[in-house]
Amino acid sequence: MSDAAPLNSFKAAAKILTWLDAMGSLTLPIDLELVRQMLPDTPFGRGTSIKEPANLTWNASEGALVRNPENHAEWGIFVNPKARAERRRFTVAHELGHFVLHRATQATFNCDKESVYTGIDTLKAIEREADDFASNLLMPGNMLRDRIDGKRIDIHLLGALAKEFGVSLEAMCIRLVKYTEQRVVLVYWDNGFLKYQWPSGEARRTRVRLRKTADPQEPLLGTLAADEEIAQEWDGVDMPAIAWCTSEASDIRLRELKHTYADGNRVLSLLMLESAPPRTYHASGWEDEETRDTFDRFIDNGQFPVR
Ligand SMILES: [Zn+2]
Repeated sequence: MSDAAPLNSFKAAAKILTWLDAMGSLTLPIDLELVRQMLPDTPFGRGTSIKEPANLTWNASEGALVRNPENHAEWGIFVNPKARAERRRFTVAHELGHFVLHRATQATFNCDKESVYTGIDTLKAIEREADDFASNLLMPGNMLRDRIDGKRIDIHLLGALAKEFGVSLEAMCIRLVKYTEQRVVLVYWDNGFLKYQWPSGEARRTRVRLRKTADPQEPLLGTLAADEEIAQEWDGVDMPAIAWCTSEASDIRLRELKHTYADGNRVLSLLMLESAPPRTYHASGWEDEETRDTFDRFIDNGQFPVR
């Protein structure tokens, strides 16, 4: 691009939201069709065109962004027609993210099911960036904050927000975990086994650790996740945090929320932990966050910094 500072997913989405606002079109759900049409008239897409999203005709992908081999200025977005509407929206936003951030590096982006939503640590960097872009574009931080701050988080609220923003409940939960300053862990179960766990920044900072069972991980006895009689617990149930986490003192509580999808096989657990002092043994007061995080990473990897 130009001599401007390098774009990242957050800045790019924020810029597009500013343009929508200037047009009087910053309303929910975010109008992706307008974004698609608008981009070629902005510095993010000058000299290009993006065709209307079309159905994917090949399998094993959730979405794709493809440059027309005969006309390099033209790009096409393809979406799995079998996916649910809110998922297709997320995919379109994800492909727009590749268009804005990555099209100079590749002519074809094939995005599989895993890469569009989950797989936190296994994702390639550009897939994560496209997800972050989609998440920031579809769920603008300030609009979400207005609706969440001061409210008790439960699945009634998150479900209503997911509907208002036009995203899936899972995408909304992931956004919450990325945005919140609370200690929250999102856990996703697929057919009785852990698919991923996603701790919020504050949960990571205070070293929340889930108790390990077997590999692959199964729900822990005594938690709602393990109770097949309970499909939904949208308000949450209060319990000692040690039921889930080895990291927590015995007086710390958590609220476990549970949502089971209609197919009965996939379960979302959302753990809202009470705040706790950071479990650091070197809280001497002078380390900044960055120093502490770097130090923690060494420790997490079983290594010790040389100093
Ligand atoms: Zn992708």
